[in-house]
Amino acid sequence: MTGLAVAARNDPGARPRLDIDLEAVGRNTRLLADRAAGELMAVVKADGFGHGALDVARTALANGATRLGVTSLEEAWSLRDAGLGVPLLSWLNPVDSDYATAAARDVEVAVPGLQHLAAVAEASGRARVHLHVDAGMARDGADPASWASLCRAARRAELRGEIDVVGVMGHLGCADDLDDECNALGRTRFAWALETARACGLRPRDRHLAATAATLTDPRAHHTMSRVGAGLVGIDPSRSTRLQPAMTLTAPVVQVRRVRAGTPVGYGHAHRTAAATHLGLVPLGYADGLPRLASGRAEVQVRGVRRPVVGRISMDQLVVDLGSRGVDPGETVTVFGPGAAGEPTVADWAAWADTIEHEIVTGIGSRVERRTLAVPHLRSLS
Ligand SMILES: *Cc1c(COP(=O)(O)O)cnc(C)c1O
Repeated sequence: MTGLAVAARNDPGARPRLDIDLEAVGRNTRLLADRAAGELMAVVKADGFGHGALDVARTALANGATRLGVTSLEEAWSLRDAGLGVPLLSWLNPVDSDYATAAARDVEVAVPGLQHLAAVAEASGRARVHLHVDAGMARDGADPASWASLCRAARRAELRGEIDVVGVMGHLGCADDLDDECNALGRTRFAWALETARACGLRPRDRHLAATAATLTDPRAHHTMSRVGAGLVGIDPSRSTRLQPAMTLTAPVVQVRRVRAGTPVGYGHAHRTAAATHLGLVPLGYADGLPRLASGRAEVQVRGVRRPVVGRISMDQLVVDLGSRGVDPGETVTVFGPGAAGEPTVADWAAWADTIEHEIVTGIGSRVERRTLAVPHLRSLS
């Protein structure tokens, strides 16, 4: 090993790469489908939580999910364009969205208030809607004060043949902590919302409140369907269940240098080497989704050993303290993986950056090459 070795070894030509393990997604889906009292909706918003919306959708449908959920209608179109014909629900759309096309393409839409209801009802076609009640987050969904009038208006639109109310949905704000009293309030408010809808003459077949955490921990929230996203890709916000992470991020060391003790590293000289060591340069930074906030805490795995990331994580690169022996350029660094071989996990990165795993997996940048492993056998889905 010289101070500035240049010969590549290991995996010549390797680039930063994100491997997606669809077998893991399949296993997680089967576990969740098994736990859910009702149907399982695979939520594949945000490009399937960064794992590829189509791949996650197909894998989930082949392993027990019966429906798909997304936020925007644009996400719904791409699933339909790809030939997926299963029931598909979209929520969080602006009032002036293209609800006529939603009806024409059989995309069900969430309705969180009277303005949305009017827009959906006025659009051509007879859209299938899920009325969305705010179960206590003051976020998406109808305010309880307006719920009864929303239900009555929806019933009138239904009688006029403008819409079909096929569902009522809510979302829990604290389901990651089963003991939080906010859960009981949310369940109670949802039960009240269902009663109110019924009293207005609505007969929603799909009644859904639980996401991943409540699907895993709280059968009282299950009703007729669970909407799960995080759990499909191995994230359990309730920390109750062992799910399988599906992402592995690797990159080559592009340069190695030997430095003296006291060498400042990176912007602001935020780190100085404590002893003579080797520094490895890895071409991944915050533009690729590695949070700058993890600087000074993060580790990566090199040749089976965890090594500290030193200095500030930059936009395109980070520096690893490789220790006294160093490695040759071209050596593969595992930034995170399932953790089975001692490598850091997405959960580790989330902890180092004071965030949640969701933010890490949805944030991996577009210049990282993606490779999907183990495309499952697909049954006919149309
Ligand atoms: C994202 C989302 C889900 C999925 O939640 P997970 O905790 O990721 O399973 C369910 N419902 C709604 C309304 C969502 O926005």
